[in-house]
Amino acid sequence: MVKRAIKNLKPYIPEKTIAEIKQEQGLTKLVRLSANENEWGTSPKVAQAILDWGVTDANRYPDSEVTSLRNNIVAGLKVDPEALVFGNGLDEIIQLLSRTLITTGDEVVLTQPTFSEYALHAEIEGAKIVNVPVDSSGYTDLDGMLAAITPATDMVWLCNPNNPTGTYVTHQAVETFMTKVPKSVTVVVDEAYIDFVTVEKRASVVDLLPKFDNLVVLRTFSKVYGLANFRVGFAVVAPKLAKILQTVRLPYNLSTFAEIAANAAYADQQFIQRVVKQVADERGRWLAFLKALNLKSYSSQTNFVFFKVDRAEQLSQELLRQGYLIRTGLGPDWLRITVGKSADNQAVQKVIRNFVE
Ligand SMILES: *Cc1c(COP(=O)(O)O)cnc(C)c1O
Repeated sequence: MVKRAIKNLKPYIPEKTIAEIKQEQGLTKLVRLSANENEWGTSPKVAQAILDWGVTDANRYPDSEVTSLRNNIVAGLKVDPEALVFGNGLDEIIQLLSRTLITTGDEVVLTQPTFSEYALHAEIEGAKIVNVPVDSSGYTDLDGMLAAITPATDMVWLCNPNNPTGTYVTHQAVETFMTKVPKSVTVVVDEAYIDFVTVEKRASVVDLLPKFDNLVVLRTFSKVYGLANFRVGFAVVAPKLAKILQTVRLPYNLSTFAEIAANAAYADQQFIQRVVKQVADERGRWLAFLKALNLKSYSSQTNFVFFKVDRAEQLSQELLRQGYLIRTGLGPDWLRITVGKSADNQAVQKVIRNFVE
């Protein structure tokens, strides 16, 4: 029998392959600006590291502890090695946390709109979703989230910066929030886009982990590190919770291939700095462009922009005809576009300008 909680769920709709869409649309060129991937690619050191590895030990199971990547991240983030739990992308960590922490009937507090996988996995576990809308400027309403916590609340998801709004709440705001949340409620801060934040230097709340046992911080190699294809994400949690998550986790969820790629990407911080700088420059141009056209948009600290436009679906179809895939379906008449390279941004902006004028 299919679980009652699963019967009527809407699935997460993954991206079609670029080749598939090109064929469908009869396009020779397609730029995918719908999944917030890294338009600057991946550090060239990744390909070299994989070639150097040379596919040895393909017949052996990978290192379940992910020791070498663990050591590198411990050195980089100054966290306890016992605090790290690796996943086949953050997708798996979101599933793992939900599976481990949620009991049927629990309440899970979410920002509306936010990354859809939090609700999906909470619902699979039979949770009741409590949505707290963003404020009129698109910011996560932390006071509203506090007010939404009841004795039945099990988890709060805080995507920071938030997908799809792009907005960022400060380190101080998250710290104050944590002091007010009951200890029995787990607060998961998804920092998938944290590297793109430029408004403050100390953006990540990883440093708050020793202070709050109920805090979980998530990171991924899919966005700024440009490794979406390799599926590497991790949670930083209190060691006590890490132990429990390790019992539920599949033992060999990260291939050696993925670990080698992530190690090489993590070592090349120069590449990361270059990407962050270019994204910030292009993002500034995007926001100025949207403002000049009088289109409502939010203040992004990520590698994407989110804006409202009449006939959004038609605009996205027009862009697709011109070889640009963008994200629809995240709000009525709202579109999300990944910040791309300068020439692509200009081409997309030209289509938008012609469409609205
Ligand atoms: C992209 C994204 C993820 C998923 O990351 P993977 O590591 O590729 O699974 C998680 N959270 C948010 C908010 C994202 O936008």
